[in-house]
Amino acid sequence: MTSTARPLLNRRLAEFGTTIFAEMSALALKTGSINLGQGFPDTDGPEEIREAAVRALRDGRGNQYPPGPGVPELRTAIAAHQERRYGLSYDPDAEVLVTAGATEAIAAALLALVEPGDEVIALEPYYDSYAACIAMAGGTRVPVTLRPADGSFRLDLDELRAAVTDRTRLLLINTPHNPTGTVLTREELAAIAELAVERDLLVITDEVYEHLVFDAAEHIPLVTFPGMRGRTVSIGSAGKTFSFTGWKVGWVTGTPDLVTAVRSAKQFLTYVASGPFQYAVAEALALPDSYFDDFRADMLAKRDVLAAGLADAGFEVFRPAGTYFVTTDIRPLGETDGFAFCRALPERAGVVAIPNAVFYDHREEGAPFVRFAFCKKVSVLEEAVGRLKKLAG
Ligand SMILES: *Cc1c(COP(=O)(O)O)cnc(C)c1O
Repeated sequence: MTSTARPLLNRRLAEFGTTIFAEMSALALKTGSINLGQGFPDTDGPEEIREAAVRALRDGRGNQYPPGPGVPELRTAIAAHQERRYGLSYDPDAEVLVTAGATEAIAAALLALVEPGDEVIALEPYYDSYAACIAMAGGTRVPVTLRPADGSFRLDLDELRAAVTDRTRLLLINTPHNPTGTVLTREELAAIAELAVERDLLVITDEVYEHLVFDAAEHIPLVTFPGMRGRTVSIGSAGKTFSFTGWKVGWVTGTPDLVTAVRSAKQFLTYVASGPFQYAVAEALALPDSYFDDFRADMLAKRDVLAAGLADAGFEVFRPAGTYFVTTDIRPLGETDGFAFCRALPERAGVVAIPNAVFYDHREEGAPFVRFAFCKKVSVLEEAVGRLKKLAG
């Protein structure tokens, strides 16, 4: 036992207990369930990229502290990727910063840019690290809720406008959006950009699923809209795009001022990370378009297996336009409480999922929604949907 009377965890973090992922993964293990909770692939990325990491390690590249902003090879590759995909031009020396995954980029950006008392608007449901990082920065989070409409979760632009106050400093925008699978449209992004310019707001964009967009959806970086280049910190990551989530290589792109600000915080978090992997990710970013097309096609096929199976099992399915998650509504199954449903599901059906309510401040808004990940082998997904069929019975 600890010996001081005061609670150990400080007030800023007190509300953030252990993440649901730990609880659910333990439950998966205990019950022998298929874990469709946490979003990591069960197949590693391209063999040649894995080999590139081995080569870097053997050649002694990155085994000691790499340069603070990231190795030049990777910064150059990130800039080239932004140019090739989006026609965005960044100076690899002044406008690119390598981070320990998108997670550190998000933390460093918020710690650098948010003053205590500043309001930060995020789309709810939101990725779980946002709330904790806003709290660590002393900011106040202001969620704007995405709501179901015609088969997907949509942003109410009037609600977003109404959420901006004189204390709003920053919009934190995630598209393609985890957990809903929503991809913001050109019109929605244009309206967000206009609002940011009108109210003189900074914007952080979380684009870790930029390469996972399906059907007619298109990922358009918010920074490409008029007036956004000087106010947007864009965040990317290799983890999801190349199926190496354990490597933790992410990046920030933005104007020299913004990147310098983010670096001021980042240098005291990890300082640097992932040395040899940085060289491998530089090679990954230069893979031909066919890699990205095949990866997307593969994930699309998986989405369709899981989405169809969940519909057969009786869920209402929100077919995602991006990411590797499917959000479902459990009410057609006669259920209303996603927490209770997810805690019981391993025993009932041998499958683990995540209650979307954990991604909400307005927990009641998220109560009937449950998220399943489809970044798993087709055989695993087929086994899972086979097991879930018994819910329909
Ligand atoms: C996975 C994920 C991250 C974290 O990315 P890392 O590069 O693994 O740190 C950030 N944002 C969203 C929305 C994610 O799903």
